Amino acid sequence: MELPRLENVDLAGKRVFLRVDFNVPIENGKVTDKTRIEKTLPTIELLLKKGARVIIASHLGRPKGQVNPEFSMAPVVEVFKGLVKANVLFSKNVIGDDVVQMSKELKEGEILVIENVRFHKEEEENEPGFSKKLAALADVYVNDAFGAAHRAHASTEGIAHLLPAYAGLLMHKEIVELSALLSRPARPFVAIIGGSKVSSKIKVLTNLFDKVNHLLIGGGMAYTFLKSRAVPVGNSLVEKEFEVQAFQLIEKAGVAGVDLQLPVDHIIADSFSDKAKTKSVDKMGILEGWMGMDIGSKTVANYEKIIKNAGTIFWNGPMGVFEMDKFANGTMAIAKAIAKSKAKTVVGGGDSIAAINKAGVADKITHISTGGGASLEFMEGRKLPGVEALKKKEVE
Ligand code: AMP
Repeated sequence: MELPRLENVDLAGKRVFLRVDFNVPIENGKVTDKTRIEKTLPTIELLLKKGARVIIASHLGRPKGQVNPEFSMAPVVEVFKGLVKANVLFSKNVIGDDVVQMSKELKEGEILVIENVRFHKEEEENEPGFSKKLAALADVYVNDAFGAAHRAHASTEGIAHLLPAYAGLLMHKEIVELSALLSRPARPFVAIIGGSKVSSKIKVLTNLFDKVNHLLIGGGMAYTFLKSRAVPVGNSLVEKEFEVQAFQLIEKAGVAGVDLQLPVDHIIADSFSDKAKTKSVDKMGILEGWMGMDIGSKTVANYEKIIKNAGTIFWNGPMGVFEMDKFANGTMAIAKAIAKSKAKTVVGGGDSIAAINKAGVADKITHISTGGGASLEFMEGRKLPGVEALKKKEVE
């Protein structure tokens, strides 16, 4: 079922509760990356153009259901004010008579940002009374918080049942781009999956299995796969309890005709540190006392060749311990290869996006997903509560 869209709805004079994901990084009270705010601007501009009175809500960090100034939306509001051409007000309260009053006094084209919804424990509990209090702030609900769509919270799920509800432009784009990957990818479809653990990626690997042509594995998780094939991996990161599943995936790949690739060479280190002694090893196995920290040059060349011929690429997870410069080459090479390819390219997950940004190639990627956990759950084939709630036919 299609998501209810905003474009053709008359919102003149209506109060719109807009749930966004303004969960931006903050250091010493200052926003250090405003990407998430910028991504929602098209929806906000559309609402203002339609003459709506906009009430914006977001979570920020993990205040654990308590008021905590460390997680106040105040610094976010300061940055936001510089990005929109509208009068922006801020309410220190999330719910209550005074916020309702403020929402009613808003003029057309004005914006009211409310405080962090997670200052109330009822938000994460999806408590119906709390949803009702949020709904009292508006006539219409719009969800643009794709990054929080995998959570069934009051401001992402509960409220959608109480007001006419629509998907924001960003939410819509995310769902369209990710759905296209799963339903009609141009072939060959190449998935590149890395990161530290098999356990956190096993579901996405399993779901992608009958959809992709090539599965390129990197990062710490590669060593559980190698170990399951009796390849010596020294002190590399291994999840013993996932060896059997890793082995079974390799077997299944053979049967299904999926080209599952593992690293054939490595950059190894004698400890998990940027001061470690390092070596480049031109073989699959790793000696005792050493650990695999990045994919080697032969593996990079193999993966580059497959990426070059791809029709569709999905990337999630770094190829090595890329936070340490010594072990970042594999991840950076993959980022650049993806950017160079003519394929439709989709990148999800904070680390892969950081690598794309560091390589300066963000503008060469078809779609950079704003939701780490949400995009992974979507690619696992799971239903996202925040999206499902928008699909209901009428206000319940
Ligand atoms: P994830 O959150 O599961 O995507 O994992 C990301 C983390 O995996 C990053 O912090 C990397 O440093 C880490 N990682 C990547 N490659 C390795 C490796 N070979 N050994 C240990 N950790 C790794």
